[in-house]
Amino acid sequence: MAPVELTGRPAAPGIALGRLARLPASGGASATRHGDAAAEASALTGAIDAAVRDLALLQKRNADDEAGAIVGFQIAMLEDDALRAPALRAIAQGEAAGPAWAEAVGAELAGYETAEDAYFRARATDLRDLRDRVLRHLAGAEAAAVPPGAILVADDLTPTRFLEADWCDGGGIALSAGAETSHVAMLARSRGVPMVVGLGKLMIEGHAMAALDGAAGRLVLSPTSDQRARFVREAGRLAAERAATQAGSAEPAVTASGQRIAILLNIAEPGELDTLDPAICEGIGVVRTEFLFHAAAAGLPDEARQYRVYRRIVEWAAGRPVTFRTLDAGGDKPIAGLTPAGESNPFLGLRGVRLSLARPDVFAVQLRALARTAAHGAVKVLVPMVTVPAELEAVRRLLREAVAEVSAAGLACAEPPVGMMVEVPAAALAIDRFDAAFYSIGSNDLVQYVTASARDIGAVAGLADARNPAVWRLIAEVVAHGRASGRAVSVCGDIAGKPEFVADLLAAGVTTLSLAPIQVGAVKAAVARVRI
Ligand code: PEP
Ligand code: MG
Repeated sequence: MAPVELTGRPAAPGIALGRLARLPASGGASATRHGDAAAEASALTGAIDAAVRDLALLQKRNADDEAGAIVGFQIAMLEDDALRAPALRAIAQGEAAGPAWAEAVGAELAGYETAEDAYFRARATDLRDLRDRVLRHLAGAEAAAVPPGAILVADDLTPTRFLEADWCDGGGIALSAGAETSHVAMLARSRGVPMVVGLGKLMIEGHAMAALDGAAGRLVLSPTSDQRARFVREAGRLAAERAATQAGSAEPAVTASGQRIAILLNIAEPGELDTLDPAICEGIGVVRTEFLFHAAAAGLPDEARQYRVYRRIVEWAAGRPVTFRTLDAGGDKPIAGLTPAGESNPFLGLRGVRLSLARPDVFAVQLRALARTAAHGAVKVLVPMVTVPAELEAVRRLLREAVAEVSAAGLACAEPPVGMMVEVPAAALAIDRFDAAFYSIGSNDLVQYVTASARDIGAVAGLADARNPAVWRLIAEVVAHGRASGRAVSVCGDIAGKPEFVADLLAAGVTTLSLAPIQVGAVKAAVARVRI
């Protein structure tokens, strides 16, 4: 076959070369009856129970990380009576279990599929997945296996199908539809499985082999031997680059002129730390606690659960400081049941600390969990989206109340210092008004607000440019104020993890960088090249 080159959108970087395997589209609901209404109802309940058992097994194999949380979301949905109730009502009126279940989930799905927000649209995949799992159990059918090492082609892929496949022998994912914000894309990135989405209708008939470049969003069907050799070379180059940068990760970051730069980590969930040596960093600069709230389909996580997760992170850090950012929901990170629906401009709406202060019931739970965690290590609290000093005051007052409540209950606790994200221009421009214990510059939001260019709109990506001098003047002012007032200043936005910005950040006087674990090696290497 002649080679066919297709371009989609990058969802997870990496190179894969392998056999093509198409994942069959899920079949419709079989109307085959199991008996009378009582037999149909018990067939449906049995199939739901069997699906929950499958998922519980999968969750056990993937405990404590993002994957476990995704599967947990599906289990919570399946166990929710509200999802099965319409199906059981239809069965009582004479409908067969399969169509009744498909319709009940379909009604729920419609809301997700048409949601304005990409996050909710991406969750529709989870619902389709659990619908099909129950339908398979009703029909007594097995899911098609994914051959190891293959490049999997499908319209879309569910997180559980991803987790059921064995990626140890490599392989990749090429999707006609799909979204880079989906859970499965997040899993693919964290497990190093290359993935391309949005490839359009994929006609692979007659093609046996393919090559996939996840970073470039490219799929080549039936690559020529020259093309294959190029992909193999690129894979080798990436592996060598990764190995070289990882090798230097455990060494401290020191400039060519001998200045030590502190490297902190940005993490979204504790599973990211499992394979990391704490010696690669001086602590954790941002725990984006939103992840805990995203995973909680059946209500927000309670104090005990938050405390358990926070404490695990503090124990990993073994005495190094850990900065927990309070819930930064809203904007591009909506949480069902918490963030307001239908805001005309969510990035300028009720997000970050604004939402926490509007929901003191939810915020108090987080502050109590943080106060308890502070009894076990050097915990700091970081407040996102601070716009006026009164917000910091309010957080400090609520934190003091949380500490008083926890200690009145006889539990160990401490009052952590409260710092602020500097990401709203009103804060950066008048930083001397803000009496925070420390400042962390969130360049991602600072850039979007300074340039009035939303961080999630591709058409204005050119304007949302972190090199804009207005952004750098603000960074320099915040650093200068930190120095003059004896407060620590770090940068935790994406620019801190990009080697090409390191020299400018150090020249602006920044001495603490907070970045994703995967970027540590490359940033330390960039620091070593700087002479100031
Ligand atoms: C930032 O805005 O730079 C930041 C670190 O926070 P987030 O990207 O989570 O908004
Ligand atoms: Mg931000």
